[in-house]
Amino acid sequence: MTITIFHDKECKGASQTVTRDLRDMKGMAADKPGSIRMSDVRDAALLFKNDDWHGGALYLNGAQTVTDLGSAKAGGRFGFGNVVRSIRVTPFFVNLNVSIVTSGDDLPGIWPTTWWAEGVVKDVVERANAYLLAQNALLQMEIARITFRDDPKQFNISGTEGWAFPSAWKNRGELDVIVVNHFAKEGKAGRTPRPCFGQALVMAAKVTIDGVDTVLTNELLAITLVHELGHYLGLSHGTANKDSNNIMFPDGSTTDVLSGKSLWKDQIREMQDRLANNLARKSDRKE
Ligand SMILES: [Zn+2]
Repeated sequence: MTITIFHDKECKGASQTVTRDLRDMKGMAADKPGSIRMSDVRDAALLFKNDDWHGGALYLNGAQTVTDLGSAKAGGRFGFGNVVRSIRVTPFFVNLNVSIVTSGDDLPGIWPTTWWAEGVVKDVVERANAYLLAQNALLQMEIARITFRDDPKQFNISGTEGWAFPSAWKNRGELDVIVVNHFAKEGKAGRTPRPCFGQALVMAAKVTIDGVDTVLTNELLAITLVHELGHYLGLSHGTANKDSNNIMFPDGSTTDVLSGKSLWKDQIREMQDRLANNLARKSDRKE
């Protein structure tokens, strides 16, 4: 990884190599950089207008030189020239507060035991993280806890319900994930208001496809999780630009593998921008 920032445009003036997260660049050689050079295809960086990784994010991914961080023409965007105050080169972690809804002895899908269900959730998060890592999204999820909630009323819900989960199911500063059995009225696998700070991300273990109830594989659950995380962090289906291979495409197709889905740089920037700006939930980011 070689990321060099320069105080002035056109890679001129004082410079420094960025090898770690810089929480506050005040007083550094290239404080408020005007240009940046990234030499490795695996380089990824988040630039923020304020210290402490706040104030809007500019996301750069891949080998490139941005000769003027303030000019869209020169590869910079959103007026970032000479205002960058902090830089991130390692992922943010979002803590997951996972609730699995049960109905008596029944677990979602065909999961036979709570031990099994926990294993599924862990595997799904692992798959989603591997995907985000491969995309260089500088974003990872971490399971804070998994709790089983016996609530037959919420076991099968409609996509338009489920907004009023008990407040005890939520945990401040974490992303509340609720796994139910089935959205009984719709052929959908997940439901997340956009952006849903303060609301839960809801996933179902079973989905109705062409009238047939289908138990989702871990891979399909992982696709759902990343898609819903996208909604949670502000992405609409429109950001998929009608590309059915994009992770935010609102498809009924459940045959794809996660690694085949695209997640565009603009989408990552939007997600990171949401994390950077929403002060109410900034503690979502485990730093
Ligand atoms: Zn969606």
